[in-house]
Amino acid sequence: MNHRVLARSFHKFQHLNCSVQPKPLQRNGWEAVIGLEIHAQILSASKLFSRTSNKYGAPPNTQVSIFESAHPGTLPVLNKRCVEAAVKTAVALGATINKISRFDRKHYFYPDLPAGYQITQSEFPLASNGKLEFITYNPSVHKLPYRRSVDLIQLQLEEDSGKSIHDTDSNRVLVDLNRAGQPLMELVFGPQLHSGEEAAAMLKEVALILKKIETCNCRMHEGSLRVDANISLHRPGEPLGTRTEVKNLNSLRSLVKAVDFEIERQINILECGGSVINETRSFDTETKETVSMRDKEVIQDYRFMPEPNLLPLRLYDSSELGCDMQGSLDIYEIRSSVPELPEAVRQRLMRDYKLSLETAIIFVNEDDLLAYFLAVMSNRARNPQIVTNLLLTNLLGVLNSKDIHIRNSPLSAAGFGEIVDMQQSGKISPSVSEDVMNVICVDGDPRTPTQIVHDNKWIQISDEDIIEHLVDRVLRENPDLVHKYKQKKKKKFLNALMGKIKATTDFKTNMNLVNDILSKKLDS
Ligand code: ADP
Ligand code: MG
Repeated sequence: MNHRVLARSFHKFQHLNCSVQPKPLQRNGWEAVIGLEIHAQILSASKLFSRTSNKYGAPPNTQVSIFESAHPGTLPVLNKRCVEAAVKTAVALGATINKISRFDRKHYFYPDLPAGYQITQSEFPLASNGKLEFITYNPSVHKLPYRRSVDLIQLQLEEDSGKSIHDTDSNRVLVDLNRAGQPLMELVFGPQLHSGEEAAAMLKEVALILKKIETCNCRMHEGSLRVDANISLHRPGEPLGTRTEVKNLNSLRSLVKAVDFEIERQINILECGGSVINETRSFDTETKETVSMRDKEVIQDYRFMPEPNLLPLRLYDSSELGCDMQGSLDIYEIRSSVPELPEAVRQRLMRDYKLSLETAIIFVNEDDLLAYFLAVMSNRARNPQIVTNLLLTNLLGVLNSKDIHIRNSPLSAAGFGEIVDMQQSGKISPSVSEDVMNVICVDGDPRTPTQIVHDNKWIQISDEDIIEHLVDRVLRENPDLVHKYKQKKKKKFLNALMGKIKATTDFKTNMNLVNDILSKKLDS
């Protein structure tokens, strides 16, 4: 989300609270059901079963060892760091870690899979039965944010395949094995979502969590987070319908568009009395349509068999065992290393600073913004409401006009704090606060906010005697307005008088005080 959208949505929705889930029905009473399978590339220096580097963007076929190219006699050695990452992810998603899991061979024949099989966990995965809570919040789609929860059915470790590149010029298929053997976590979620928007919100929460616990960088455009969406339709209360699977979606936008397109396509088929076929489809980012890849009616036989070169993976929990097994992976230790997760941060912001859910969502979505806010709030005398208003509406607006990201803000959190303090104590008016931001961020003035305010004599007039004097003068000079106000008691005449005072003092009067004194004089 860019800052402009952020600032706008903050403004519009800051007073609303989280609502209950709206009825997720589609056109003509159909209910859409969506289940996501997410492939997350594990952040690790080397591959799942070898020491070969994982680095992204290397020239084709430069990160391939004899293991990935399937030379006979090479053996897999499980990367401990990847198991740790998978356990950490499972813990963060509230899943049960299976003390014994197993690797299987899944056979299929593709040029980008030299061994003729992929080593994966399917029958005995590393973890199962987790839960993910997330908030669907997109002000342009739903008026109110609402909470949802989906089950994580299982989390398994598996190796990635290489990449086939279809070169249409030479009519050849080129193979790049750099990706072969890269460590993946496959997260299979239950069929519990009801729209493209919900699917995107869920994926966003997964990405926030994985980034926070540093098990995946979640760069969808680099392919480190890929999603398969399963979509079906049914009448509420009836069994689930036949699903299609849209493979390899690599952006949030594609996920939303692909799911919504597929829902419409299936409704059209069903409304005409047809039936949906169980097939794999891909999403064309140009036409924004899904197209059939292969049908699944004939069940493909992957000839699963246990991987004979890897022992079952055994994990232990020192808190259950009551002793330490030197050198082994300890679930307890990993569990203790999980940091505060995004939802907990939102709750903390709402509790400690009385922020609205919408504001908390905005901060948690953007690390740099949150860090900035917390740095400003390190002085607890500051009013969080004033800080969030100045930060999300004024500062982001100013930075946005120069296309500057908050992380590169010329106004530091300390400088911003000075502005807050001056405004909060009534020394400057809110409009001066924004002027100071402009001077620093747009004009590049190196002075501190305090210096700028003093040098420009922007200190707000809060002296009651001076204000009374100003009020008296304006009342004297505008008898017609005073007369009209006294007759009709309309606020617009009062506002007109206030405006005159504002103008004569170049916007530097404390308008709250002006309002008090003026009203008192007019009504007496
Ligand atoms: P398979 O054995 O074909 O892989 P799974 O039962 O493991 O099928 O489910 C794979 C994914 O498909 C899961 O994410 C699940 O939520 C989703 N799914 C299953 N049935 C449906 C359905 N009828 N509609 C939508 N999604 C479904
Ligand atoms: Mg499956």
